[in-house]
Amino acid sequence: MAEGQFCNKSTVNTEEGIRHLLSDTNGKTYYKEMEALEVDSAAIQATFSKTLKSRLKTWLEICTHCGLCADSCFYYLANEKAPNQVPSYKIQSTLGELVKRKGKVDAKFMMDAMDTAWSKCTCCNRCSQYCPFGIDMGIMFGYLRGILYSQGFVPWEMKIGAGMHRVYQAQMDITSEDWVDTVEWMEEETEEEYLGLKIPIDKENADIIYTVNAREPKHYPEDIAEAAALFHITGEDWTVPSVGWEETSIAMFAGDWEACKIQVESVYDAMERLKPKRMVVTECGHAYRATVTEGPYWAGLKDGKTPVESIHYVEWVAEVLRNGKLKLDPTKKIKEPVTYQDSCNYIRNAGLSNDARYIMSMIAEDFREMKPSKEHNFCCGGGGGLNGIGRYRKQRDAGLAVKHKQIMDTGAKLVISPCHNCWDAIRDLEEVYEDGIRWSFLKPILLKMAIIPEHMIPKDE
Ligand code: SF4
Ligand code: SF4
Ligand code: SF4
Repeated sequence: MAEGQFCNKSTVNTEEGIRHLLSDTNGKTYYKEMEALEVDSAAIQATFSKTLKSRLKTWLEICTHCGLCADSCFYYLANEKAPNQVPSYKIQSTLGELVKRKGKVDAKFMMDAMDTAWSKCTCCNRCSQYCPFGIDMGIMFGYLRGILYSQGFVPWEMKIGAGMHRVYQAQMDITSEDWVDTVEWMEEETEEEYLGLKIPIDKENADIIYTVNAREPKHYPEDIAEAAALFHITGEDWTVPSVGWEETSIAMFAGDWEACKIQVESVYDAMERLKPKRMVVTECGHAYRATVTEGPYWAGLKDGKTPVESIHYVEWVAEVLRNGKLKLDPTKKIKEPVTYQDSCNYIRNAGLSNDARYIMSMIAEDFREMKPSKEHNFCCGGGGGLNGIGRYRKQRDAGLAVKHKQIMDTGAKLVISPCHNCWDAIRDLEEVYEDGIRWSFLKPILLKMAIIPEHMIPKDE
């Protein structure tokens, strides 16, 4: 069979298309159809000719199979050091073979490659730090995902997520109207608690444009209220855009590069339209990676920079703590042992570990480092889209073992986890192990300790 009713090579560009895919509960028919999906070898070969550049080719060729990267991969460790979990094996048996065979493979090969690309690698980039040649599996699996996506071999939830970006410019079905309604609602909820608080929408020339993860307006809008409270307390001149507010990219996890470009350009358009001095992204790590690290290249910005300077929330918090705009009550520091989940996306790949340590020194009396930590920290186990893929739940849960051990070894039961993906994985990890581990974003912790300027405190009648 060439193209299935649910599983095919077409992109999803309409609400009806998304609804249609969602009607196939858990992608049952979708995966059945995938088994018979035809592979267009000529198209794969053409993509290789155009996009398989010397760096990736060289990486595939120079790997000496020394295995030094093996112990760096949390999947390898979590799966009793199974040989098929060695990073170099995983990429050579998928992308390496596909290149060697010039794309002449069948649906079975492509499905196996899909299972490896999404359930055996979270694109955490840790292994690249241990390979003597700096070979980066995260980058290579990202490339492989793009090839698989173009041929229709992509997990069901990822195809839906990429479609959401194409239709809504958000990873979920939230329109701009929904977003603005939520922002106004959060302003109403919060202004009684902090006198004078406003959430300015579409204000031009503000110092800061603030952008979020779509899950915040959808599932935890209090995060927007907390962000507003902190911007208000610190006296920042800030705004949110009515359009172009979503930073994340399931399209990036899916390998749908066209949708990545559509998504990120919506944010960059907001920057161009409102002309803020800087952009601050919420605590999410993959949002930062999508819009700040990778986004400029998707959008064809050759200098690799966003239209205005863009910083992660951790950088902003460290800045306002250092310059005294945010004052914390030292008597309210966390007394119990507490640890910190370093996200690959803004710690390993953006070098913000010192800012994170500074923040921890200001909020915790007994901070315990995970081992290893900072740039060398292990992936939480749920990155690269894995948290959201039902087909791989068993593999994801198995991979959580490494993070579980790291947390338990610190002796802390509280984990500060700004990255939303890591936050989810730690929440799910507690469901699996039931050790009483708790997890939190930074915002609620900071608000509990913040010294509120007198004129913002409501007076009793
Ligand atoms: S990028 Fe991360 S998950 Fe993927 S192979 Fe390397 S260490 Fe393992
Ligand atoms: S460490 Fe590098 S060269 Fe050695 S097996 Fe891993 S990817 Fe290949
Ligand atoms: S979920 Fe967190 S730890 Fe895992 S790859 Fe993403 S940023 Fe890294």
